[in-house]
Amino acid sequence: MSKWYQLETSVVLEHFKTDATRGLSHTEVEQRLAQFGFNEIEERALKNPWLILWEQLTALIVVVLIVAAGISALVGDYKDTIAILAIVLFNALLGFNQEYQAGQALAALKKMAIPKVKVYRDRQLVEISARQLVPGDIVLLEAGNLVPADCRLLESINLRVQESTFTGEAEPVEKTSVALAGEELALGDRRNMVYMGTAIVYGRGKAVVTETGMRTELGKIADSIQSIDGELTPLQQRLDRLGQKLVIASLILVGLIFGIGLLRGESLKLMFMTAVSMAVAVIPEGLPAVVTITLALGANRMLKRNALIRNLPAVETLGSTIVICSDKTGTLTENQMTVNVLAIEGQKIDLNGGTPNSAFNLLLTGAALCNDVRSNLSFTGDRSPLVSNRPSAENYLGDPTEVALAIAAKRLGLDKIALDRKFRRIFEIPFDSERQRMTTVHQCSLADVQSILPDIHDDPESSTRYIVFSKGAVGSLLEITNLVWVKGGIEKLDDRDRDRIISSNDELAQTGMRVLGIAFRYLDRPLDHSNDITLLEQELINLLERDLVFIGMVGILDPPRPEVREAVQTCKKAGIRPIMITGDHPLAAQYIAKELDIDTSGKVLVGSDLARLSPAELSEQVELVSVYARVSPQQKLRIVQALQSRGHIVAMTGDGINDAPALRKADIGVAMGLVGTDVCKEAADMVLLDDNFATIVAAVAEGRVIYDNIRKFIKYSMTGNASGVWIVLLAPFLSMPLPLLPLQILWINLLADGLLALSLSVEPAESDTMQRSPYPKQSNIFNYRTVRDIVWVGLMMGVSILLLGYEYRLAGELVNGHNWQTMVFVTLTFSRMSLALAMRSEHDSLFKIGLLSNPPLSIAVVLTFLLQIAVIYLPWLQASFQTVALSAYDLTLCLAVSTVGFWLIEIEKWLYRRSRSHAKSASAKLES
Ligand code: ADP
Ligand code: MG
Repeated sequence: MSKWYQLETSVVLEHFKTDATRGLSHTEVEQRLAQFGFNEIEERALKNPWLILWEQLTALIVVVLIVAAGISALVGDYKDTIAILAIVLFNALLGFNQEYQAGQALAALKKMAIPKVKVYRDRQLVEISARQLVPGDIVLLEAGNLVPADCRLLESINLRVQESTFTGEAEPVEKTSVALAGEELALGDRRNMVYMGTAIVYGRGKAVVTETGMRTELGKIADSIQSIDGELTPLQQRLDRLGQKLVIASLILVGLIFGIGLLRGESLKLMFMTAVSMAVAVIPEGLPAVVTITLALGANRMLKRNALIRNLPAVETLGSTIVICSDKTGTLTENQMTVNVLAIEGQKIDLNGGTPNSAFNLLLTGAALCNDVRSNLSFTGDRSPLVSNRPSAENYLGDPTEVALAIAAKRLGLDKIALDRKFRRIFEIPFDSERQRMTTVHQCSLADVQSILPDIHDDPESSTRYIVFSKGAVGSLLEITNLVWVKGGIEKLDDRDRDRIISSNDELAQTGMRVLGIAFRYLDRPLDHSNDITLLEQELINLLERDLVFIGMVGILDPPRPEVREAVQTCKKAGIRPIMITGDHPLAAQYIAKELDIDTSGKVLVGSDLARLSPAELSEQVELVSVYARVSPQQKLRIVQALQSRGHIVAMTGDGINDAPALRKADIGVAMGLVGTDVCKEAADMVLLDDNFATIVAAVAEGRVIYDNIRKFIKYSMTGNASGVWIVLLAPFLSMPLPLLPLQILWINLLADGLLALSLSVEPAESDTMQRSPYPKQSNIFNYRTVRDIVWVGLMMGVSILLLGYEYRLAGELVNGHNWQTMVFVTLTFSRMSLALAMRSEHDSLFKIGLLSNPPLSIAVVLTFLLQIAVIYLPWLQASFQTVALSAYDLTLCLAVSTVGFWLIEIEKWLYRRSRSHAKSASAKLES
């Protein structure tokens, strides 16, 4: 029974025991959910926890360690064996925990990205998560939706579906609802079926779900299209390459240490163990993992600020964003639209005050009929719009612009639902932001026509009558109108009328209003050729959209979001340029831009002018112009390309289907979560759950913090490791035998690169995070300062600790104990604590940012201290680690010497701050 395409719709409906208008009942849905499960594709991405643990244990480094433990056991050194295995296990658990957490965080993000669908259940149209669909559900499909499950179409109104997932064909396919003959139709030829994972790019339709979840065509091929492993992010790739270099460097180093040791007459076994431990300590095996974890946890923090990350590398790219191109409507403004003004024949009325006449009735009838909103039946806060006389936005589902129109009509007593019943819609040309208008055709009786057009000329012979309504941008409507509605009658639209209409459009737009014009056309018989099925669709549109009568216009107010003004300021301080791109009128765009303090000095570039610019010219213009109006989605793509050709990292927002290419091209594609279409969300790297521009800025700030923290992590790790290397490498020149034992090296690695380093990666934002320009994307993680610190501070730390050991060794030879090794061990561990504290901020002193402002790090420091104390004072640990108890004086000395690195970094930061403030006051002097 799976050849649904061969069957009549009634047979399919019967098979699923469902009804095209009522849908399934709730009890039926429950049963089917139990039987078929949720409508989801099983993810293989979530790794089995055991697999993660296994991978942790089989990492090359760990294998080497385990071999070392084995060798220890062979030569009878069981203490070492057990200690090494314990450390290996500990390390593995730590790594496991991180990776597991990251996985969970990512899975949670994925769950949030499931689209919603409109379905009929228990006679009501409700919106549910696509996950809850069952076979037999009746779903509504609209342009912009992703098809939520495999379905047989019941109704297709110009429905066009892009099926490249299956067919590789980018050109959309026109769908139908009639049964098809043919035994073995290929998937692409089953034109009355739609399949999960394809996208509806045009029109709308109704369909019955036939298969869900893994039984869909997508489910069957899911295994082959899911990428096996998450790709490495650019940062991870760079770190990977760095890691490889470090491995080579450390191998050379380790060889050196091994050779020198042997020459000095150390035992082969001890030197082998030392070499292995050094390798473990120096190789940053955890680096790529730390990056994933930091990014994943960062993505989670962004989610709390309403930015849903769909693509992990976006987190790091966000931090380098230089330009944010934003839609106006809904992102910079509140998208709380209200109709304020109606304008007809140069006469304006304020909807809150004036008394409207019949012309206004006609205007709003058109606004309500040429309109796709539906009443929101699930809304219970107020009475249904049919009953309530104070309708509010909650009563309707749909585009905010259209909701505003429906509400305005309702307030004049024109109820959309009642109107729809009288004037049945039989054809439509949907709104698209390219044409900037939409048109609907309604069939009606003569009486109904006369209720809105009393003096209409009519052919009494005719049995069918139609009224066509068009609404859209005034400029777009004027292209198809040559008549105008004046004093209850139709007149020729002359140039004077045209000028008058355009200037009152400008006048309204100047105050920031979104203006929509409304036009109509009356047909007392069918169009001459409209029954000719050979007529191409474009020809039909041309036949329909002409000779329209311009009625008037509606001014809709949509105030700017108050928080956006502040976000724009933040951007400017952070070296980020906010750009407004809108399909709206240039004057409305300019008004809102001024309100929000977006730069308008470069004036407004209008789409039609933009179209005339060559790529080279545009690339010059984008540096000057920050406000773009009457822009088509294709032009958005051109703007992105032009900005990128200038070397900028560009974030671009979008909500429509046509925005998808621009979002894909942008470095950060940002989709609207509330009004955005599924198709556009699918193309985006980030989804704004609140459609708010301020959220993008918050995400950028978060991205910068994450990037900073990864850099801090690396700098800290490498500086600390360098100090250890210097100690082991230089000790022989002071004729000191091995200053650090293998187990001690592993121990320090665990505490320093484990506990301390990880807590550095959750360091909160620095004071200047959003007050400096972004780092260029290509910029190396290793700038001059970083490399200098790693080499120089590492060396000074190593030398000071070594000298302390040297002193104690000399004294020890004179007196009794040989506690110098313990001194070196303790001081080195402590020095990693103070290093972590010093490196928390790149410019500010620790004393300014506060000792306790990163609680996890404070805990890690205390824990490290206590564990180190335990290792030297607890007898059974003393035995394993070959330490001795230190006197209070010695311990204090260790603490003191361990701060060498801390002071060096603090002094360096102080010098940096001083030179920067000098530079600032110098440039201030220059300016004044
Ligand atoms: P924005 O970039 O501000 O979101 P849009 O591309 O949505 O702009 O709209 C561009 C223009 O198209 C608007 O200024 C308006 O004139 C017209 N328009 C917007 N929505 C509709 C609609 N639902 N029906 C008809 N025309 C519309
Ligand atoms: Mg829009």
